[in-house]
Order: sequence, then C-alpha cells, then structure tokens
Amino acid sequence: MPKRRPYKLPASLRIGPFTYQVESLPKPAAIEEGVYGDCDLDNNHIRIAAGMSAPRRAETLLHESFHAMFNASSLKGTRAIERHEEAIVSALSNTMAQFMRDNPAAVRGIIDALTG
Ligand SMILES: [Zn+2]
Repeated sequence: MPKRRPYKLPASLRIGPFTYQVESLPKPAAIEEGVYGDCDLDNNHIRIAAGMSAPRRAETLLHESFHAMFNASSLKGTRAIERHEEAIVSALSNTMAQFMRDNPAAVRGIIDALTG
C-alpha cells in the first residue's frame, strides 16, 4: 500500500462571521473523550485528534467545520433540524470528502470560480 502524505491542519478557518482556531487534540484525550474531533462553538475552536490517518483527519476537519457552519446558518435554533444535526453533519462530511477526493479538478474549478 502506498504511503500517504501526512495531513497538515490549517491554523484557522473562517466560517460564517467567525474565525475558528484549529489545533490537534492529543490522542490520549481523544481516546478518553471518545471523539475524532470536536467543535467548541462558544470559543470558536476546532480540535482534530492526533494519531489518525490523513483521510480520517481531513474528513474530521470537514465534519467539525460543518458543525460550525450549522451554527452559523439559520439551521441552528431550528429544533426539528437540530435534533438531526449529527446525522446531517456526518452525511455531509462523508459525501463531501468523497466528492473532493474523486473530483479534484472540479473542486479546483469551483475554488477558482469563487475566488477568481
Ligand atoms: Zn459531530
């Protein structure tokens, strides 16, 4: 199996009106908390567990970013939708990770169009 490049987390992400600081969550803490990552909406902090594969870390960053987007959107506070937040966020992060992996030219084209 070819060795994958390590995944370097970004230092921060702009999501809605907020800037989230991104940092690694030490593996023992992640195991103790039973999480791959977390998103602290009160303090604009995203943590991603260390010691996972590059694809898992990347997908987890997407996942936690979707929680922040959920919060920044009008979806937060909509009780009927909020009840399903974890399922919605998981579905989006998994399918978005697959879409980005399998369609890199399209993703670059989207980024170029948005930032052009
Ligand atoms: Zn989640």
